Amino acid sequence: MNYHVLTLFPEMIEQGLHTSIIGRAMQKGILSLEAVNIRDFAFNKHQKVDDYPYGGGAGMVMQAEPVYLAYASVCEKIGTKPRVIYLTPQGKVFHQAMARELALEEDLIFLCGHYEGIDERVLEEIVTDYVSIGDYVLTGGELPAMVMIDSISRMVPGVLSNQESGETESFAGNLLEYPQYSRPETWHERKVPEVLLSGHHANVERWRREQSILRTDKWRPDLLKKADLTGKEWAWLHEQRKKQRENSES
Ligand code: SAM
Repeated sequence: MNYHVLTLFPEMIEQGLHTSIIGRAMQKGILSLEAVNIRDFAFNKHQKVDDYPYGGGAGMVMQAEPVYLAYASVCEKIGTKPRVIYLTPQGKVFHQAMARELALEEDLIFLCGHYEGIDERVLEEIVTDYVSIGDYVLTGGELPAMVMIDSISRMVPGVLSNQESGETESFAGNLLEYPQYSRPETWHERKVPEVLLSGHHANVERWRREQSILRTDKWRPDLLKKADLTGKEWAWLHEQRKKQRENSES
């Protein structure tokens, strides 16, 4: 997977993504990252890339031409026209299934806006996907691009040393992951659940599945509606909810 990020702050992208799992995958050549400075494509001697919005109003707008030239330089270099993701609070909200789907691409271009955003005309011409990382407004698209790159990379084969851990994590099958424990067995008088020390693989798996269901029911009931629970599991969950209600009433 090759990422190309069009940005006014390339150092932010470069510094933010060269550590830990993602940094290691880059060293191994599984991923590559190029931060393209839009300012290098400014057509004036002060490298100014923004101007006042037509119609008035607050803030500045990034101009179309430098963005277009930065995009064209990537396409020319790699010889294809990859998908272009514009990070914007107005886009479709990013989620795990989207990360999984984008991980199948060979190249991806991320376009980071700043100020009040980017001239609409260049967006119409080059953008294929409008993506938001949540219903709040950030200063620029760099952090959202890094969030997406981190998450997509986990889905690229070979990036995680234990591929299985990407498949059983939260959101797989629309469930949150079960709680995790490590040594020591007792910490601040809190014990690790007995079943995890039993060495009984089938019981551990059942306990983890049940915990995933309970946790999703408590924290993300919206997800649970889409989860692939068996009839037996739904019946078990109704029973657990009943018990909890009775406990809280007594
Ligand atoms: N005026 C724009 C609006 O109201 O939709 C917001 C512009 S924002 C201050 C500047 C840039 O930050 C955007 O062009 C976008 O690239 C990025 N950005 C801000 N919030 C974002 C979010 N939630 N998800 C993705 N990108 C975001």
